[in-house]
Amino acid sequence: MERTAICCCGSLRVKVRGEPLRVVVCHCFQCQRRTGSVFSDNANFQRAQMIAVEGETKTFTRATERGGRMTFHFCPRCGSSVYWDFSLDPLTVGIAVGAFADPGFAKPVRSLFGVSRHHWVPDVEGAEAYLADQHGPRE
Ligand SMILES: [Zn+2]
Ligand SMILES: [Zn+2]
Repeated sequence: MERTAICCCGSLRVKVRGEPLRVVVCHCFQCQRRTGSVFSDNANFQRAQMIAVEGETKTFTRATERGGRMTFHFCPRCGSSVYWDFSLDPLTVGIAVGAFADPGFAKPVRSLFGVSRHHWVPDVEGAEAYLADQHGPRE
């Protein structure tokens, strides 16, 4: 199956083939600021599954709590953050689940940074929950 993640204005399009390795929600403050929402929903794919990227991107790179750097690729026209790279895991790519605009998309199996989860956001049933990243203490 092929799916296309698309920014708000439609100029940045990322096509992937096959199912995601995993879907992870993250409640960290960086994800809250990046998305403007109170948590992010992120699909990880093998880089080889990313079969096409159309449109220009600008990038923002930051250090992560567990070392390495994340580089976010966003549309310079509308600002949507669509996909990202993690320097410590160069064979995978993260894609914003919301960019697929598919309510049937796979549900998260992991929940990160419970320490900054908004008080009204429920646990994802059946997902492994961590207070920080997946190397941190569990909830
Ligand atoms: Zn755009
Ligand atoms: Zn996060």
